[in-house]
Amino acid sequence: MKPSLAPVPPLTVTVRPSITCVVPAYNEADGIARFLGSLCSHLATLSTHYDVIVVDDGSRDGTGLEVIAASGGLPVRLLSLSRNFGKEAAISAGLDESAGEVVVIIDADFQQPFHVIDEFIRQWQQGYDMVYGLRTNRDTDPPVRRMLSRIFYRMLSCWSSVEIPADAGDFRLLDRRVVSALKDLPERSRFMKGLYNWVGFRSVAIPFVYGERHAGRSKFNFARLFDLAMTGLTSFSVFPLRLWVAAGAMISGCSIVYAVFIIARTLLRGTDVPGWASLAVAVSFLGGVQLLSIGILGEYVARIFTEVKGRPNYVVAERHGFPADRS
Ligand code: UDP
Ligand code: MG
Repeated sequence: MKPSLAPVPPLTVTVRPSITCVVPAYNEADGIARFLGSLCSHLATLSTHYDVIVVDDGSRDGTGLEVIAASGGLPVRLLSLSRNFGKEAAISAGLDESAGEVVVIIDADFQQPFHVIDEFIRQWQQGYDMVYGLRTNRDTDPPVRRMLSRIFYRMLSCWSSVEIPADAGDFRLLDRRVVSALKDLPERSRFMKGLYNWVGFRSVAIPFVYGERHAGRSKFNFARLFDLAMTGLTSFSVFPLRLWVAAGAMISGCSIVYAVFIIARTLLRGTDVPGWASLAVAVSFLGGVQLLSIGILGEYVARIFTEVKGRPNYVVAERHGFPADRS
C-alpha cells in the first residue's frame, strides 16, 4: 500500500489526540465497573478529549447495567447489541460509532496493561497510523490453546498473501484514516486481525506482557476458536482450494500410470484374481480425499452464502450516552 511507504513526518509539535476507546464486553459484569474507572483515570492523563464506548455483546449477566451504573460522571457510552454476535462484530460496532482522532481497542479484563496505550500514542505522534500490541508471553493461555494458535498462525503465514503477525491481537491504536478504511470494507465474515493488515498504512508493533484476567473467564472455548480460525483461513487464503487441485492432479497421474501397468501386465501374463485388498484401500483412501475436499469447498461456499445474504454484522438494541441525534 502506498501510504505505508511514506517517510515518517518530523515531529514539530506534540499533538494530544482525541481518543475513543472501544471495549467489547461479553458477560464481564464482575469486573467492568472497576475496569472503566481505572481506564478513564488513565485516559485522562493522556488527553482532555476522550470517551469510552463499551459494546455489550449480548451479555446475560447484567454487564450493561453495571456499565450504566459506573458511567456517572465519566465519558462512557454503552452500545448494547441485541444478542451475542461475537467479538469481531462487537469491535466493528464500536468502530462504527467512534469519533476520536485515534481509536484504541482494548479488552474489558485488565489483561492488556494501560501503560502500553501511552506508547501507542507516542508512536502515533511519530507518524504511525496503526500501533499494535505484540504479546511476549502466552502463559495465561491453556497449553492446548497455545499449541493450536501456533499451528493456526503458521498455516496463515504460509498460505496468506497478507502479512498477519502471530501474537498480535485486537489491542491496538488506529488512526481515523485506518478506522475509515475498515468501515468501508463490506465483508460479513470478519476476521479483524487480518483486516487490520489488509488495509495497510504505516504500522509498528509494541511488545507487552499479557496479564492475568482480573475477573470472570475467557470467552473463547475450542468451538469459538475453531470458528474464528476457519473464518481467518478462508477469508485470507484460497490455498486450501488449490491444494486439492494439486492433490487431484497427482492422484489422477498415479492412477493413469497404474492403469498402464495393469494393462501391460494383463497382456503379458493374463488375468489373476488377487488384488482386492489394494483395491479396497485405494477406494476408501480416495473416498476420504473426496469428502475432505468437498468439506473444504463447503467452507468457502458457506462464506459466500453469508456474504450474499447481506445481513448486517450486528444489530443494536440500545444506546446510552450517545448524542441525542444518534440515540
Ligand atoms: N468478547 C466479546 N464477545 C464475545 C467474546 C468475547 O465482546 O463473544 C470480549 C470479552 O468480553 C473481552 C474480549 O472480548 O472483553 C476478549 O475476550 P476474552 O478475554 O474472553 O479473550 P482472551 O483474553 O481469552 O483471548
Ligand atoms: Mg481476555
